[in-house]
Amino acid sequence: MPRDRERLHILSHLKHSETPKMKTCWIWTPVLFFIAAGTVGLGAESATDDGNAAPARVLIVTGEDYAGHRWRETTPALQQAVEQDARMKVDVLDDLTQLAETDLAPYASVVLHFKNYDPKVPGRAGFDNLKRFVERGGGLVLVHFACGAFEEFKDEFEPLAGRVWFGARPPAGRHQHDPYGEFKVTITGVDHPITRGMESFTTVDELYTCLEGETPITVLAESTSKVDGKEYPMAFVLRFGKGKVFHYALGHNVPALKNDGAATLLRRGTAWTAGLESMPHSLEKSPGNDSGA
Ligand SMILES: [Zn+2]
Repeated sequence: MPRDRERLHILSHLKHSETPKMKTCWIWTPVLFFIAAGTVGLGAESATDDGNAAPARVLIVTGEDYAGHRWRETTPALQQAVEQDARMKVDVLDDLTQLAETDLAPYASVVLHFKNYDPKVPGRAGFDNLKRFVERGGGLVLVHFACGAFEEFKDEFEPLAGRVWFGARPPAGRHQHDPYGEFKVTITGVDHPITRGMESFTTVDELYTCLEGETPITVLAESTSKVDGKEYPMAFVLRFGKGKVFHYALGHNVPALKNDGAATLLRRGTAWTAGLESMPHSLEKSPGNDSGA
């Protein structure tokens, strides 16, 4: 179907999905741009004319993934997890061809929720736009298979992502991930605003064992593979230029994103990249609590 029609279809899907209260705004909305302009790198709320704080804008970039990753279903779940913190408001860019041309300056943080297979989409210009945004102080979040994005620029992506996918052919002795199932996510002893006060939790997800890289990172959560008995990072942070990066290996599907602990970790990590102060954990409300499930 034509691009515009496809976009409308997706917009409609998001609006009428499992999160009926959410409202998806589009990145070219002039009003949105006016309100949010100039907040890049500052992250925290900006004042509007009536004196109220405007939410930090977060842009989820999606639109392509491995066939087993149903991004049309997981994107609303991701949005819901982030917007449980009312200080953040999510927009969705679901056309990767547009990343190069998208003005990221209105956003406090960009969430990568895709794995591209065409090296030209988002392409060099898309990568450079994103890299420039983070260098200048924008926040960056990687969710699950976003570690495999920009595989064509793997060496340049690694300093930005901290760790990247090792590729379709695992090195000797390595495997992609444990079989989908239950495992414990252990909050490490590192004192960090994202995980301060958080308890370790159990989830049902894919335990990723497929990351590689040498960039210094701070691991905030880790899990032990049932396959090889080794520890693997599930969430970690790093700095790139003036920007903050939160890399989140969890989130294979909708139930994984709705897990209380996993959603809390994702939300707090995103807030941190957006420059927001951490909220006391006791005041947070998870999607699981919200749905009553
Ligand atoms: Zn997966």
